[in-house]
Amino acid sequence: MKNTNSSDFSYTWATGMILAKHIKIKKFPWTVLPLFSTYTAHAIYPYIYLPEEIYRDLTSKKPTPRNVATLIHEQTHIDRQKKVGWLIWGLKYCFIPSFRLNEELVAIGSSMKYMKQKGEKWDTARSAQFLSSYLYLWCVSYEVAKQKLDSVWKEK
Ligand SMILES: [Zn+2]
Repeated sequence: MKNTNSSDFSYTWATGMILAKHIKIKKFPWTVLPLFSTYTAHAIYPYIYLPEEIYRDLTSKKPTPRNVATLIHEQTHIDRQKKVGWLIWGLKYCFIPSFRLNEELVAIGSSMKYMKQKGEKWDTARSAQFLSSYLYLWCVSYEVAKQKLDSVWKEK
């Protein structure tokens, strides 16, 4: 499959084909770190690491929209890492909370766009909980996250 940008995901990724080579199943040693649990996906340029369950679902005939949205989220991070330069991106992501928040909102926005196209809903309360948790090193409060996510969902 050709490497696409997030704008044409819905035509390429969503059909449950062979995933591009940069998309991998998350394995040891990533899984031993709490921040990198088996349930979460990661974009570590140039690779996307997915929990095995999500990977299997995506390669099935009818992938769950939620999982396609997860892939789109991570691919958005990869696209941005490529644009900014992965090292600069990584440093900023680690050390600048507002940058981290913005990158997450952009990635979530791409996923939301896909989910909306598919007629799916989005639980912004749940996303806000994640975004304001230790998983993202407390880059934002729940209230602000919820408000921002609601407005991103509305404009998608
Ligand atoms: Zn993310």
